Amino acid sequence: MSDCLFCKIAAGQIPAKLLHEDEEAVAFLDINPQAPTHLLVIPRKHIPTLNDLSSEDDALLGRLHRLAARLAAERGIATDGWRLVVNTNRGAGQTVFHIHLHVLGGRTMTWPPG
Ligand code: AMP
Ligand code: ZN
Repeated sequence: MSDCLFCKIAAGQIPAKLLHEDEEAVAFLDINPQAPTHLLVIPRKHIPTLNDLSSEDDALLGRLHRLAARLAAERGIATDGWRLVVNTNRGAGQTVFHIHLHVLGGRTMTWPPG
């Protein structure tokens, strides 16, 4: 999608602090971190929200989760605890309509989320 911020980051057209790149996924630091560790894991494929998944995305979503866990381990938050957040649509706080997994850690999390 030509007008999508995260498609542009995945294509290297907009700079980001990249942590990982492969043929299907990209991970980078969130520009406005909400925790000492806050990174985003995205598919290269433009999927606007979790509401738009199809069965062909099953393996992709599994890969994104495993990548999130690997990056959490690499950044030293896996043992203490980390949170995966996917906001879906505006009422949940989604502002960028290209699926992204927020990986948050490095501080104590509260529950329920606000
Ligand atoms: P959401 O509100 O769930 O759609 O999350 C969008 C996230 O993208 C927010 O946490 C923003 O801080 C982050 N963000 C927006 N623009 C950029 C950017 N250019 N580089 C990195 N992260 C960004
Ligand atoms: Zn996109």
